[in-house]
Amino acid sequence: VGKIIIAGNWKMHKTQGEALEFLTVLKSKVEETDEAREIVLCVPFTTLSILSKSLHGGKVRLGAQNIHWEDKGAYTGEISGPMLTELSVDYVVIGHSERRQYFGETDKTANLRVIAAQRHGLTPILCVGETKEQRDAGEAESVIINQLQKGLVDVDQSNLVIAYEPIWAIGTGDTCDATEANRIIRVIRDQLSNKNVTIQYGGSVKPNNIDEIMAQSDIDGALVGGASLDPVSFARIVNYQ
Ligand code: 13P
Repeated sequence: VGKIIIAGNWKMHKTQGEALEFLTVLKSKVEETDEAREIVLCVPFTTLSILSKSLHGGKVRLGAQNIHWEDKGAYTGEISGPMLTELSVDYVVIGHSERRQYFGETDKTANLRVIAAQRHGLTPILCVGETKEQRDAGEAESVIINQLQKGLVDVDQSNLVIAYEPIWAIGTGDTCDATEANRIIRVIRDQLSNKNVTIQYGGSVKPNNIDEIMAQSDIDGALVGGASLDPVSFARIVNYQ
């Protein structure tokens, strides 16, 4: 089991003004949160700068949602490691199912991004997970093992987070049963040489199911989408029992 990390993934939500409003409320609600729980906000590139200024020295860490593998070059629309580290970013979400589904992300490009993140001292959050069809066909484990094997080529496991996000549970309200999520996360841990990697669960995490999820033996945190957009609900998740 690894360090506990509760991360919000805002996806394509919030302007700078909305982000600051969120942060003001969140900060007031996590003052008492156990220092051992890392709180991370993975936000759009356009809100990183303003949040990094307001976070200074605080409890909340910043994450980006993508990183290119080159440091600079003719890659229109991409963002590089040096651009992120300048903004006090510590984490970067890589290989999210939405990037795989809509933007052509593959295990190979995710692997290149993970390596680039580490080269710049950022902690990659590599997302893996199966579709409903793959689960129904009994392929969940093999799909995930394949994603890990390809995504982790030449990757240093001392600076790594994995997020298990079953695609059928994302944004659907159809949470993966906590014991089943724990079982898959154990399968993931078996694949890793470093057994202390933080492995999160993601997919319809809400204030009303976080306690049960975090009570599982192998789940080290959560990657929260929709429920991370409201500071009160995200604070409740961070402050799980
Ligand atoms: P939801 O919490 O909205 O299901 O999203 C999960 C997710 O994709 C986090 O990266």
